[in-house]
Amino acid sequence: MEITSSHASPVLADPAPASKGRLGGVHTSLLSASSPPRKKLVKDFNLEVASEDFDTAYMSWMLKYPSALRSFEHIIDQAKGKKIAIFLDYDGTLSPIVNDPDCALMSDDMRSAVKNVSRHFPTAIISGRSRDKVYDLVGLTELYYAGSHGMDIMGPISNSGSSDHPRCVKSTDQQGKAVNLFQPAREFLPVIDEVFRTLVESTKGIKGAKVENHKFCASVHYRNVEEKNWPVIAQCVHDVLKGYPRLRLTHGRKVLEVRPVIDWNKGKAVEFLLDSLGLRSCNDVLAIYIGDDKTDEDAFKVLLKSNTGFGILVSSIPKETRAFYSLKEPSEVMEFLRTLASWKETEDSDKYQSPV
Ligand SMILES: [Mg+2]
Repeated sequence: MEITSSHASPVLADPAPASKGRLGGVHTSLLSASSPPRKKLVKDFNLEVASEDFDTAYMSWMLKYPSALRSFEHIIDQAKGKKIAIFLDYDGTLSPIVNDPDCALMSDDMRSAVKNVSRHFPTAIISGRSRDKVYDLVGLTELYYAGSHGMDIMGPISNSGSSDHPRCVKSTDQQGKAVNLFQPAREFLPVIDEVFRTLVESTKGIKGAKVENHKFCASVHYRNVEEKNWPVIAQCVHDVLKGYPRLRLTHGRKVLEVRPVIDWNKGKAVEFLLDSLGLRSCNDVLAIYIGDDKTDEDAFKVLLKSNTGFGILVSSIPKETRAFYSLKEPSEVMEFLRTLASWKETEDSDKYQSPV
């Protein structure tokens, strides 16, 4: 669900899954049982039925969005002879979703899986967090990073058209390597900083609310806010935004995000990076984007429309998506990345050993 300024009384929920497969309602039904033995029976029965319903809904959803692990053979069939590029979201994709966003750390095993895949394919992280923050969390110099939903990109220097963009400037990365820095919403920096401070002030009375400054966007997390206060926090953000017509609100996983009204998103960031990598106009490219959030849908859509690759949605519940495949959770993402790297290693070694 997206809350826009046209909504009179915003009410929060998780972005809606495709089916009613939420188990949350089960617990409410349990409250109606009267005696303890009956209560237990009803509980066991309801949980079992709900669980079966959920499994059925998830299985039928997976027919539409098959597991990228189980479809691996099919994926490498598509990849043969093509240049693969990997795009990864961070939260909920490489790291688990946790109550405190500061504690969303990726495991060392995941880090080495990402590092290994980047040895074989150009790999970029595209996150809603600030670029500096996501770089600190991932800590791999081999990758390209796009923060603030793609509004802050540090990409490779190339001879392609991307470097000609008027807002693209030459810079250096943490290692002193020459890079292209692209910040299409640079003019919004002061306004985002101002709205961040206003949001901190206006939500300080709501227990559990957390506001973050992601440089080119600001986010208000309500994961730790009591559900009865969700309408309060939504109204609060809505009221602050009334004073900022050039900002808009989007809704992620228990987070409201304030972003500049510009025609730029994770999908555009993927196009920009493919361009920078000299891959955008190639026919032999397979871009794979793995993400779990609504903001990743823009990237899935770009790949689907341009026929340059596909999206993989990370989700343990059925959801409407423009992705082509699915993975259930970050541990499956890690397995997929490992499998992909190991397939490439085998392929390269076979090639090396084959007589010319
Ligand atoms: Mg995410």
